[in-house]
Amino acid sequence: MKLSKRFLVKPGTKVKLSDWDPNDTAGFAKKKEAVDVIATNQKRLAELQYLLYAESKRAILVVLQAMDAGGKDGTIRHVMGPLNPQGCPVTSFKAPSDEELAHDFLWRIHRAVPRKGSIGIFNRSHYEDVLIVRVHDLVPKSVWSKRYGHINAFEKMLADNGVHILKFFLNISKDEQLERFKSRLDEPDKHWKANPADFEERKYWDAYQEAYETAIGECSRSYAPWFVIPSNKKWFRNLAVSQILVETLDELDMKFPEPAFDVSKIKVE
Ligand code: ATP
Ligand code: MG
Repeated sequence: MKLSKRFLVKPGTKVKLSDWDPNDTAGFAKKKEAVDVIATNQKRLAELQYLLYAESKRAILVVLQAMDAGGKDGTIRHVMGPLNPQGCPVTSFKAPSDEELAHDFLWRIHRAVPRKGSIGIFNRSHYEDVLIVRVHDLVPKSVWSKRYGHINAFEKMLADNGVHILKFFLNISKDEQLERFKSRLDEPDKHWKANPADFEERKYWDAYQEAYETAIGECSRSYAPWFVIPSNKKWFRNLAVSQILVETLDELDMKFPEPAFDVSKIKVE
């Protein structure tokens, strides 16, 4: 079964994250088995990116969301690393600035949407506005509860304009998060990654899981699907994300454009 089917959240279904095993590896027994598949996917993805650029008819938008230490950065490094950086803008969304807060929540997002021919990566996204914002009551419920509809309408508009949206929730377990936090404290080279605020945020684990369940359930659509990626094992997470990207781009059946001139009539001397 294609991984883009296996890990797809079917539009219109209710999501219970406890039904999604973060240790699933889709039959791959160990990292060694995955290495060649990941390398093949990376190579194919680079070819598809070249074709996407040559065609310049559409854009790909990859949205990455996860709990802290969920592996967004590692996914970007491993999966997108081999791509041509000219056609692969990455935008990391932090807490909004005063200016961003003075606009609607999609204002800063819309400006970062990739142009046709490129693959844009969102490291966090507009979904924060129904995640951290909901968990910490940063705006009243009457405001955030309308945002699922706003997001769906926005993403539909982008899709109608040739943006293919793929949204990945990197699903780790609460124990795995603890292990990763501990290693950030234990290994001096990882101290810079440790953030006391993340340890505080861990107390809200259940509230975040609930907020994710609603966001993923309300906003997985045929034109902008959510995938729940088992991410306790980093090698499988990389395999799954790269594979789903390849499967999706392959299905677009892109073609190099015909030249606008008669190639046979041109003489280069
Ligand atoms: P790293 O892996 O390097 O820690 P990060 O994505 O966690 O990367 P941080 O600077 O640690 O980056 O965190 C960004 C913070 O900004 C997160 O806590 C996130 O929830 C918050 N944030 C992002 N978007 C919004 C938003 N719209 N409203 C409020 N907070 C937001
Ligand atoms: Mg952080």
